[in-house]
Amino acid sequence: MTEATPSRPTPRAGIMEIEAYVPGKSAAASGVSKIHKLSSNENPLGASPKVIEAVRDVAGRLEFYPDGSATRLREAIAEAHGLNPANIVCSNGSDEILGLLAQAYLSPGDEAIFTEHGFLVYKIYIQAAGATPVSVREKGERADVDAILAAVTPKTKIVFLANPNNPTGTYLPFEEVRRLHAGLPGNVLLVLDAAYAEYVRRNDYEAGVELVAGSQNAVMTRTFSKIHGLGGLRIGWMYAPSHIVDVINRMRGPFNVNAGAIEAGIAAMRDRGHVDRTIEHNERWLRWLTEEMTKLGLRVTPSVGNFILVHFPDGEAHSAAKADDYLAARGYILRRVSGYGFPNALRMTVGTEEANRGVIAALTEFLKS
Ligand SMILES: *Cc1c(COP(=O)(O)O)cnc(C)c1O
Repeated sequence: MTEATPSRPTPRAGIMEIEAYVPGKSAAASGVSKIHKLSSNENPLGASPKVIEAVRDVAGRLEFYPDGSATRLREAIAEAHGLNPANIVCSNGSDEILGLLAQAYLSPGDEAIFTEHGFLVYKIYIQAAGATPVSVREKGERADVDAILAAVTPKTKIVFLANPNNPTGTYLPFEEVRRLHAGLPGNVLLVLDAAYAEYVRRNDYEAGVELVAGSQNAVMTRTFSKIHGLGGLRIGWMYAPSHIVDVINRMRGPFNVNAGAIEAGIAAMRDRGHVDRTIEHNERWLRWLTEEMTKLGLRVTPSVGNFILVHFPDGEAHSAAKADDYLAARGYILRRVSGYGFPNALRMTVGTEEANRGVIAALTEFLKS
């Protein structure tokens, strides 16, 4: 029997099951004089002044195509991180690399694993590739290596792990990541998404460089969107074995990293001072916010990133949704995380001193109301 020809173009199976990603809000109620956007883990110090200068320079030569292999940017990243530039691929945000990896290594019928409270973008890219998303339960709001390994089947082709994870802020020590990798068959790709690596102040953490350098089935993805304050320019990169670099370079757009992004990225890599100031700011206010929220009786998942997951009390009176509305009406934009399996929590980015103090003051009033 031949199937009826559809009357209009139809996407591949699976595409219409995708729930489109909902980014953090950026607008607040009208009548609020100042808005503090604390919903997308952006850098409260902004981009480095040196980066802004570099982008201004590019404005004078916008007619020229960028270098399609982003060679100088890869060299700047390699120098800062002690890597071989030939094992780096740059991208239009790290999201692009995550999507390309899914397109390259997943076929319909394949499975790809991510964790219960893991970054939602993985599921979207798995579905977009026509493969089956497999969500694995976490333990104590942290990825569980044994549960991930138990979920691996002959159909599994990729394991996505955000380390640290968004929105929980929890991380797996390197020994655990190593154990995960050791337990995977050689044909399963381990994608270590280290978007928040720079913020982690723990001796037992490693972003993934060692694993990538010592194996054929692990990659590490990184971003300029968080610590470098460049979310608006879209710059990410991957450190990977040569055979994976080759695959992604065949698939990606020929000029996937634009000229402004290339120059901004180079300047950002060379401005260690801005990174250090950002880390210092984050350490101080991450601790302060965690303590203050706890004093208010709100549970905070221990975070090593630049954001915290705040859990609200059971019952309608002081729910996360009500807190979100209350804060938004006062100009503080946080992130609802129901889609991540936390219907009664909000994620808050560590902001400026003014924003952090303002949120705590507002929540103090809210909880009394
Ligand atoms: C923010 C974030 C990214 C970065 O995305 P970009 O596309 O580089 O802006 C990647 N992974 C996680 C877990 C994130 O939170």
